Amino acid sequence: MSEPLVIIGQGMAATKLVEELSMRALGRYSIIVIGREPYRAYNRVLLSSLLAGEVAAGELELKPSHWWGRQGVTNVFGRCVTAIDPRTKRVTLENGVDFSYGKLVLATGSHPILLPIPGMDLPGVMSFRVMADVEAMSSGAQKGRPAVVIGGGLLGIEAAYGLAHAGAKVTLIHLMDRLMERQLDPPAAKLLKEQIEAKGVEVLLSAQTARIAGTEKAEAVVLADGREIPADLVVCAIGVRPNADLARAAGLDVNRGILVNDGLETSDPSVFALGECVEHRGVAYGLVEPAYEQARILARRLAGDASAAYSGSVLATNLKVSGVSVFSAGDFLGEDKDAIIFKDDGRGIYKKLVVEGDHLTGAVLYGDTSDGLWYLDLMRSKAEVSGMRHDLIFGPPPKA
Ligand SMILES: Cc1cc2nc3c(=O)[nH]c(=O)nc-3n(C[C@H](O)[C@H](O)[C@H](O)COP(=O)(O)OP(=O)(O)OC[C@H]3O[C@@H](n4cnc5c(N)ncnc54)[C@H](O)[C@@H]3O)c2cc1C
Repeated sequence: MSEPLVIIGQGMAATKLVEELSMRALGRYSIIVIGREPYRAYNRVLLSSLLAGEVAAGELELKPSHWWGRQGVTNVFGRCVTAIDPRTKRVTLENGVDFSYGKLVLATGSHPILLPIPGMDLPGVMSFRVMADVEAMSSGAQKGRPAVVIGGGLLGIEAAYGLAHAGAKVTLIHLMDRLMERQLDPPAAKLLKEQIEAKGVEVLLSAQTARIAGTEKAEAVVLADGREIPADLVVCAIGVRPNADLARAAGLDVNRGILVNDGLETSDPSVFALGECVEHRGVAYGLVEPAYEQARILARRLAGDASAAYSGSVLATNLKVSGVSVFSAGDFLGEDKDAIIFKDDGRGIYKKLVVEGDHLTGAVLYGDTSDGLWYLDLMRSKAEVSGMRHDLIFGPPPKA
């Protein structure tokens, strides 16, 4: 008989895991996937494009209902798991229904971080994580009305662009002195700021939010220096933290995220975890590619391959703002390392490669990102680049 495998969270990591399992161990497990959101798993990455009106909601669904059926998966969505009992190996839903498991996988994603300031609970203040946030932003963004996005990282910039595209008058507030400081060095961040401003978004750097003003609803964002930025709509996009709530309550080892070893196993050998909810070797990732790499490894493990091991991911970032090409990967700052730099001000192109010894360890590309995946490949495979260092900045050698 198939062993019951319960997956909590019906997001991108869970869907990839089921896909990988169906290729490796179809029939070995009887799988139940439980998700809190009232939809089948969808492509969260595309929420930005949905907000910007570049894709329709229907295009986000990761797998159609018949695909889940074909894999023999019981798909429960719109239901929150409220407790795990590792002793009896049962999970309980909010409506009291419970399921027993032989193995359990946690794929509960992240919580958006909210600022601990007055006014965050006013109507009109929201985060940017789930489909419902996009619905609220789209209905709240009115032509010519003021909106403020707090946070100048990838998510904040994409939110600001989407709202500006919808016609709102957008101000983007960032605490640091440059946008996307965790992915871009100062020259690339400067180019990005110019292009975002050219799209109609006002960018305020080194700006600390003190409170949201308003009585019935948000009316303005007040900065620590006293400036008041009018806002009907405030989007807080300052980062995420792993959602380890269930794991913590069940007594599993948790630090920032749910602690897992290279086999994606938690401190309970019947419970595994993957995606944004985990912390592996001290790192909690906030991007989808590490979640997918973990899904491939975990599927192999669950299919019986005890040698499958996850050793961490080299991160790469792309920004989804139409007409703005940004790529960043690895140790892009490369302090005390060799840097190879190419700059074409006229065309708005900037490229920086970081080389350590014989290896490429980081890259920032702005304006022309066509070689990004090739550089990423060189980093991930730890290829020797000393022989091609002279031409490395110009991309892959022409095919003979
Ligand atoms: C707007 C936006 C744009 C993004 N763009 C990019 C990008 O360009 N590139 C990139 O790499 N990454 C991007 N990301 C991040 C990417 O979406 C995540 O890395 C990815 O979704 C992580 O997958 P996950 O399965 O771990 O988490 P999620 O996809 O968040 O799935 C977790 C699911 O678990 C559910 N859940 C949680 N607790 C429970 C519970 N108790 N019971 C039942 N269900 C529960 C949640 O409701 C959620 O649906 C973006 C994210 C957002 C919000």
